Amino acid sequence: MPGGVNSPVRAFRSVGGDPPFIASAKGAYLTDVDGHVYVDYVGSWGPALLGHAHEEVVAAVCAAATKGMSFGAPTAAEVEFAAAVQRFYPSIEMLRMVSSGTEACMAALRLARGVTGRDAIVKFEGCYHGHSDGLLVKAGSGLATFGEPDSKGVPADVARHTLTLPYNDPAALKALLDLEGHRIAAVIVEPVAGNMGCVLPTEAFLAALDDVRTHGALLIFDEVMTGFRVARGGAQARFSITPDLTCLGKVIGGGLPVGVYGGKAEYMRQVSPLGPVYQAGTLSGNPLATAAGLATLKLLESDAVFEKVEATTAALAEGLERAAFDAGLAVTVPHIGSMFTLFFGGRPVTDFTSARRCDMGVFAKYHRLMIDAFIYLPASGYEACFVSAAHGQTEVDKTLAAAAVALRACAEA
Ligand SMILES: *Cc1c(COP(=O)(O)O)cnc(C)c1O
Repeated sequence: MPGGVNSPVRAFRSVGGDPPFIASAKGAYLTDVDGHVYVDYVGSWGPALLGHAHEEVVAAVCAAATKGMSFGAPTAAEVEFAAAVQRFYPSIEMLRMVSSGTEACMAALRLARGVTGRDAIVKFEGCYHGHSDGLLVKAGSGLATFGEPDSKGVPADVARHTLTLPYNDPAALKALLDLEGHRIAAVIVEPVAGNMGCVLPTEAFLAALDDVRTHGALLIFDEVMTGFRVARGGAQARFSITPDLTCLGKVIGGGLPVGVYGGKAEYMRQVSPLGPVYQAGTLSGNPLATAAGLATLKLLESDAVFEKVEATTAALAEGLERAAFDAGLAVTVPHIGSMFTLFFGGRPVTDFTSARRCDMGVFAKYHRLMIDAFIYLPASGYEACFVSAAHGQTEVDKTLAAAAVALRACAEA
């Protein structure tokens, strides 16, 4: 396997050292093959909102497995799943299940192009929407970590249809739309950015996004990360914006491979077999993945889950800020819902340029010290940390104690 891994950031290349090999996970904890137990802030890069191996989710998957792994035919569980998603995301009038966030974004863009008859799309620097060709342009985390703005192997003919703009720059978005609006099929955005670290949108930026429809372009919220993380109803609920199309993934699969794209019925009716925009999947709506997702969504009906993760996240962010201040390090810790990032740098992080100004050398040292203290953080300073409902005061205390030591060591170096 290239780098010994099946997804690049897992290889620890940008922070140094070898990644622990994980044997099992339960609640807020990971156990590696040597028996070390870590407090986990990766949560499988987002999905584990309820904590790992939640009993009810595991039971649902086991029950589904005994009835057959895949049929390639419709099931009642998919209908139930669709209804459960729709209850929390009323903007999704009709949806299609896929197997990853990448697929969801790729399909949503094809649909937007099919609906509008236009080719160009707009994305924002530092936002990641999966690894399909047209979206690997200035795509944040994985690529940023390796210092590559774009991937090799993407034809220039494909990349030229992707127009990129700085995040949180409403004037730039307005200017582009005034000039090129007539040929733009869609604007796709992480409504809270999570793939250049956690970066919050300004009100003016959100308002400018809401306006793209006046140019006939579709607004696509990629909520693969922010769905159920920023709020139960995602960023669209938190900020009261109704996108035309929404992409979901991560949390809705409960740890199994699931993605969803959906939105206005008039657009979704253009998807095959109702309409001329093709999209399919052998394992789409897979019974195990659907069971895990459905069990997860049922547990997420509880308000207590969201109150808890938000309070835990705020306590961590504030505690880290205080520990860094005590150590004499300038940091900024943007956080919302159950996600946060510790940026090494005193200035606000509002876009990819300001994210890149942060000190990734100090981050690498901090990461190593935290792993040594059995706190498992994402192996890139351009990622968000994720908190689960299984994280509580014990884990917060452990984490902040380890961080105080690590941050002091970083300050001395
Ligand atoms: C993770 C992510 C994706 C890609 O999802 P995969 O399941 O890894 O293909 C797309 N968009 C956003 C915002 C993500 O965070």
